Amino acid sequence: MGDEYGQYGHDPNAANNGQSDSNNIDKRIEDIKRVVTKGASEATQRLKRVADKAGDYWQQAQTAPTPRRADDVEEQRIRQLANLWSNENWRVARELGTYMDLISWGSDEVWEISLETRWETRSMEIVSEPYTGRTTATPKPLLPVWDYELPPVVGLKAPMTRTRLEGLDEIVSCSACNGTGHALCSNCTGRGWVVCPDCKGRTKKRCATCRGRGYVADWSTTKEKKPFFRKQAENVVGSVGGKVADVFDGIRQQGVPIPNPMDTDPASKGPTIPCPDCVKGEVDCTCGNGKRVCEVCQGARTIPCVTCGRTGKIVRHREIVRRFDLRTQTRIIGETPIPVQQLVKANGDLIYNAEINETLYPEAPPEGVPMDVWRATVDMAQSE
Ligand SMILES: [Zn+2]
Ligand SMILES: [Zn+2]
Ligand SMILES: [Zn+2]
Ligand SMILES: [Zn+2]
Repeated sequence: MGDEYGQYGHDPNAANNGQSDSNNIDKRIEDIKRVVTKGASEATQRLKRVADKAGDYWQQAQTAPTPRRADDVEEQRIRQLANLWSNENWRVARELGTYMDLISWGSDEVWEISLETRWETRSMEIVSEPYTGRTTATPKPLLPVWDYELPPVVGLKAPMTRTRLEGLDEIVSCSACNGTGHALCSNCTGRGWVVCPDCKGRTKKRCATCRGRGYVADWSTTKEKKPFFRKQAENVVGSVGGKVADVFDGIRQQGVPIPNPMDTDPASKGPTIPCPDCVKGEVDCTCGNGKRVCEVCQGARTIPCVTCGRTGKIVRHREIVRRFDLRTQTRIIGETPIPVQQLVKANGDLIYNAEINETLYPEAPPEGVPMDVWRATVDMAQSE
């Protein structure tokens, strides 16, 4: 590319060549124009022909269609269905069902059998609870889980239930507290006290007035008297700065080595005096001995055992847990060209529906159900 530019810019014969080049380019542009124009006019011609044809068809179609009237309910239904479909899918001839001719039609019936079965699963669980001193019922033998007569369940989608079995209580010792009824306090690990969180057990705290330096700025040596407003403003600034400095100190005390930008040593500004509030930057902590009484056990070292409710005993009993699952089977009976996936989504008339616990009789179909459909239903229910 760079070479081409070079040729035009520096070649001594450039003027000469340039002349013939521009002639060439003009000619080529002419050629392209001609081809494009020709092509375009051909395309227009073709479009025109197509439009004419379409116009002809349209003219023919304009022979005003007459709406048809349905003679019976079945025909009415077919026309309605066709209208429903053409309204959704076509822009022209939206009311196909109203204007079309019906040549022939037929009707089929398809049956859908739906069988829902509720399955029950039982398990026995051992549950422990604190002993309350309640006398237990007379002991009974432990039976297999399905031998217990339990209340009947209603509804196909039943929730899980737990039934406590009477006469199977066992009173045993609490292992969590070793039968003592109380456990060591976990907050103080049984000591009854914790290390004072304020002084970390040192009995002394850093002085807040001098920030642990032991000295403060000596304001009395400042000669100049400050006007009232300026002084007030300085107090505000001072207290805000102090708060920020406290935050930084808090972080530094947790072991993060960051410099405190708000805390400037008063010694760098002028004369200082010993802090009036402390001894060498430290004050006594209110704990006195570096310990604080545990707030959880109040110094008792133990707390009541939650497992046995301080009785030292627990009651072990058994519960039957019943879980219910619903399983659904569907079967289509009858010949139809409509795919099953479509049929399953479609609506129909409900002929028979029942929730039963006893056996079905294959020879006694409910009213409105054909024999073969009923037999298939009974087969399905019996093979479950
Ligand atoms: Zn303390
Ligand atoms: Zn101090
Ligand atoms: Zn405690
Ligand atoms: Zn216990």
